Amino acid sequence: MVIHTCDALIISCIDFRFQKYIQKWLGKNFRNKTYDYVGFAGASRDLKTILKQLDISVRLHKITQIVLIHHEDCGAYGKESTPKRHATDLKKAKKQILKLYPDLKVDLFYILLDGKFEKVD
Ligand SMILES: [Zn+2]
Repeated sequence: MVIHTCDALIISCIDFRFQKYIQKWLGKNFRNKTYDYVGFAGASRDLKTILKQLDISVRLHKITQIVLIHHEDCGAYGKESTPKRHATDLKKAKKQILKLYPDLKVDLFYILLDGKFEKVD
């Protein structure tokens, strides 16, 4: 197998309404970078699924950064889709990821329905 590595793993929700915003954002912020990109309903809501994907990206592609993108009005969260809940879950995911991969750069974002990206710290 030819050795091939990339910079980052991007994880977002599958929601089609946000794909054009995400592509635009990636085009701007990851223009000179390479990345794996996957979509799961609710993004990092199912942490177990995320960690499995992350493990593969780390082992095969030696990524150094992971970006988790949640969004407003997420069907996977239903009535629980509040900014506060998303921030809580994103931070929980980050904590868990850093426990397993302390050297990874973990960035968290929340997209509004109008396409605006908000950084979650
Ligand atoms: Zn969603």
